Amino acid sequence: MDFWDDVYKKVSDAANYTAKETGRLSELAKVKYNLMREKAKLEDAYKEMGELYYNQMKTSEYDDKKIALAYDKIEKSITEIERLSTQVNVINNTKICKKCGEKLTKEMVYCPKCGDEFKAEQEEAKEATGTTTEE
Ligand SMILES: [Zn+2]
Repeated sequence: MDFWDDVYKKVSDAANYTAKETGRLSELAKVKYNLMREKAKLEDAYKEMGELYYNQMKTSEYDDKKIALAYDKIEKSITEIERLSTQVNVINNTKICKKCGEKLTKEMVYCPKCGDEFKAEQEEAKEATGTTTEE
């Protein structure tokens, strides 16, 4: 390989990696934001349910329809929170191969596409997930 071809390849590999890693991190930020919003929605739904129960007990007028609607909201929020949490875990558990840009799981030691090895990165990954998953 020509010297400049080699330089060009290294630069474009690095740019490819940076673009994909940036994409991964912005996706993670987006999902975390949605997760935070959904948790706030769930709290509101619980509050609503509590107020409904309180008012119904106070007035002795029971409206099962309202309770059922509040219940549905809570159930939907819980399902959505589970879905988003899974997504956060999946993204957290992903890394990008610095050599070829392939998407891999964190436990992988070798890239199945280009055969690159990632020993040092695994240590970095542990530190990174340690700070992001303890929320
Ligand atoms: Zn690779």
